[in-house]
Amino acid sequence: MKRPTTTKVCFPSATLCPLWLKIFLLLLLTFALASTIACAKGISSADATPAAPKSESPAPTPAPSEAAGPDTAPLPHIDSKRAFQYTREVTAFGPRYMGGENHKKLERYILDHLKGDQVEDDAFTADTVEGKFPVRNILAKFPGTKDGIIVILGHYDTVYPLRDSGFVGANEGGSSTAILLEYANQLRGGEAGKKRDGYSVWLVWTDGEEAVRHWTDTDSVYGARHLAEKWEKDGTLKKIKALMVMDMIGDADLDIIRATNGAPWLLDLIYTAAERGGYQSHFYALQGSIEDDHVPFVKRGVPCADVIDLDYGYNNVFWHSPQDTIDKLSPKSLEIVGDTILETIHMLDQR
Ligand SMILES: [Zn+2]
Repeated sequence: MKRPTTTKVCFPSATLCPLWLKIFLLLLLTFALASTIACAKGISSADATPAAPKSESPAPTPAPSEAAGPDTAPLPHIDSKRAFQYTREVTAFGPRYMGGENHKKLERYILDHLKGDQVEDDAFTADTVEGKFPVRNILAKFPGTKDGIIVILGHYDTVYPLRDSGFVGANEGGSSTAILLEYANQLRGGEAGKKRDGYSVWLVWTDGEEAVRHWTDTDSVYGARHLAEKWEKDGTLKKIKALMVMDMIGDADLDIIRATNGAPWLLDLIYTAAERGGYQSHFYALQGSIEDDHVPFVKRGVPCADVIDLDYGYNNVFWHSPQDTIDKLSPKSLEIVGDTILETIHMLDQR
């Protein structure tokens, strides 16, 4: 679950306005204020351009990468069929909320796919408004020859308050778990023990991203907050070159939002990577400040990007709904995001 940092918008119903609608309205409001609205579904504009960053952001449109010289390396490609199959299998576990039985099954499923990799646990007990929960971030580290770390986060828990609603989170929780499993396949590559040619890449399946009751600063992103504190203390944060969050990236109708509470240069780099694959029409038509696993790291000065599609079905109707099912997703969307972020990693390696 994510919410914008401000929710000062007019609602059609003061009493029962769902959170997703607030987000959607805020996004629309952002367009109106910025006067740079792109063609969102159901809204047309004669001069559609990518959403411009808000006034405090320096670049008016997604800018070309700062990376020097043309990049002639072949574009990376994930195995999108395999990634989609992971999404299907993860979703088939059913609700996977913190503390639940299916959550434990999914932990084992993730670990089974990381055999032979350098895997670590970041496990602790979260004291929440709904009681104590075991929380377990799962890390897979792929060492590189360059000094520095690129971190990719994706949460695997589903929404606790929706545990009895039939919510299975194909996109919300499923797609992020799956794309990281596929990244692991891509990163482990050649011979065992051989370092990748570039920065170290750490994949983190975060736990407790979702609120257990209502989203607040203290009831959300439990795993990411714990990791950010830990990495601040042990000095890891200083080594992170970029941190990217994958969330809800499987929607067949893919619109990745420009999550404005990220590092503008990194958001632009992702856009440039998308352009290289011819995928740019799926990026940044919408923009807004999003609360997600990146926030604890943003607060500590880490360059972050939240890669998320919060336009899931008309008016975001499938978000946190029992209709968030596998039939709404497509392998192509996983491929678009998967290839783009692998290319972003490649471009980061060149810097
Ligand atoms: Zn999510």
